[in-house]
Amino acid sequence: MPIRVLPDTLINQIAAGEVVERPAAVVKELVENSIDAGATRIEVAVEQGGLGAIVVRDDGHGIPPAEIALALTRHATSKIGSLDDLERVGTLGFRGEALPSILSVSRLSLSSRTRGEAHGWRVAGDGALPATGPEPAAHLPGTTIEVRDLFFNTPARRKFLRSESTEFRHLDTAIRRIALARFDVAFRLTHGTRGVFDLPAASDGRGRDARVARVTDPAFLDNALRIDEERLGLRLHGWIALPSFSRAQADLQYLYVNGRAVRDKLLSHALRRAYADALHGSRYPAYVLYLEMDPARIDVNVHPAKTEVRFRDSAMVHDFLFGAIHQALRRVRPEPATHHQVNLEPGATAVAESRQSGFGYAAAPRVGSQLLAAPMAWRPEPTPATPQPLGRALAQLNGIFILAQNELGLVLVDMHAAHERVLYERMKQQLAAGDMPSQQLLVPVSVTVREDEADQAENAQSRLRALGIEIERAGLTTVRVRAVPPLLAGGDVATLVSGLLGAAAEQDSRQHFSEVREAQERVLADMACRAAVRAGRQLTLAEMDGLLRDMEHTDLAGQCNHGRPTWVQFRHDELDRLFLRGR
Ligand code: ADP
Ligand code: MG
Repeated sequence: MPIRVLPDTLINQIAAGEVVERPAAVVKELVENSIDAGATRIEVAVEQGGLGAIVVRDDGHGIPPAEIALALTRHATSKIGSLDDLERVGTLGFRGEALPSILSVSRLSLSSRTRGEAHGWRVAGDGALPATGPEPAAHLPGTTIEVRDLFFNTPARRKFLRSESTEFRHLDTAIRRIALARFDVAFRLTHGTRGVFDLPAASDGRGRDARVARVTDPAFLDNALRIDEERLGLRLHGWIALPSFSRAQADLQYLYVNGRAVRDKLLSHALRRAYADALHGSRYPAYVLYLEMDPARIDVNVHPAKTEVRFRDSAMVHDFLFGAIHQALRRVRPEPATHHQVNLEPGATAVAESRQSGFGYAAAPRVGSQLLAAPMAWRPEPTPATPQPLGRALAQLNGIFILAQNELGLVLVDMHAAHERVLYERMKQQLAAGDMPSQQLLVPVSVTVREDEADQAENAQSRLRALGIEIERAGLTTVRVRAVPPLLAGGDVATLVSGLLGAAAEQDSRQHFSEVREAQERVLADMACRAAVRAGRQLTLAEMDGLLRDMEHTDLAGQCNHGRPTWVQFRHDELDRLFLRGR
């Protein structure tokens, strides 16, 4: 085939491959255009999950009739005019690609009216602009774009679409994502005849909270810390869930950079790291976060879908995000005040309910007819007034729990989980300070392993020494452990070794410092779990008090290393109510 210039429609269809891969992407582009047009209300109506029709109507500034055809032409935009503009883009769009791409793969109609116009204008085309210009049409000030039969002329693309319900789910998510970026804009979504959501514009904190609850999960804010940090021209604000409110999927993660929802490896890595200490590897943190900075410090022109960004100083952004979240999570300490209540009808079901207060939030699981106490409320600063928020130990229950009494009432501590957290934090500090203690075993322990594991042990020797572990090769499939951290000296060294070798191999394959640290911390977590008091072990009151004091001085003491709560508070009035006293 000779070289030739492709026809416009084909060029647009090729671009459409990147810009509009599915109905959700069409909706995203259209809603973003409405926002760029200054709309205060955006209504989206779809049919058949967006496969049948997508209609987006806004009350924005509209398009003058003379520019309507241009709006549907490739590389035509009102948003930038020079390279300089591109370097500090303030709008969501700027490539002039979305409308022509969508038109090239659908039956599209655009109606619009500017404030100055007496009526609206409309143009419609199947896959391409018609030869004739726009015609007068009834329309309120603003713009309506109707997209029918998406990919009707590109059957190969249509084949990649999923069921109506799946496509609708993506589309719904796309609008929710935008709705959390612009609280000042009202959004409505309908699917066929069904109203899916109608979000009024929110001008105050209460309205914003209501929207967050509506869009994410009603319990999210009750379990979240508010963040607002500013440093070096970077600002981070929003909410992060406590580790105990983790999710099985990454479905409650909203991250915006200058009002743009982004998917960014660097930022997700920083967040994952910040939660790593407190979250089991298979759980996902929940957050709604806004990162703001001078637009000149970001390149948004990375991908046609504009969901990726490039930072001019990426290491600084990573460290800022990591530091802000990490610190906020670590400041969460026991607070001598709870905010949950037990509602107990005489002789009937008791349900603990959570209430919020300041930074402290607590959530209570609602479980059938059982009485469950909420984990105690948390606050970001240790409270100076009360030196012993967790009180004094009274007894040990079933070898699992410590019962303690504080000013507020009864405290119940999960002994193993709490001890594990205390040990883990202590070992991490020792590791960071470079003085991980090590104790020679009286009798070195030989362990039989696979040959490749023995190789790993041999290779990882120096790295393991930093963790207080001395291990050497004793034969083809034997390793010998000579020293371990004192905490583990009395424990089962043989089972420790197998866990270690996996983690050691992982350390080896990691180059980046933070990844090595991550693998090391997993070894520490594993050691802490092994060294923590086992269920059934009898503790003296003094030992129990010692653990309570340690918890009070430990970062993240409220959760075990897997994000479960380590202790709960039952307040006097709750106990009273259990016994119907004082009524
Ligand atoms: P971009 O958003 O990158 O500029 P688009 O193809 O999405 O490119 O839109 C082209 C142009 O059409 C925009 O620059 C804008 O001027 C105009 N436009 C699109 N949608 C709207 C709308 N809802 N209201 C007003 N103007 C719009
Ligand atoms: Mg656009």
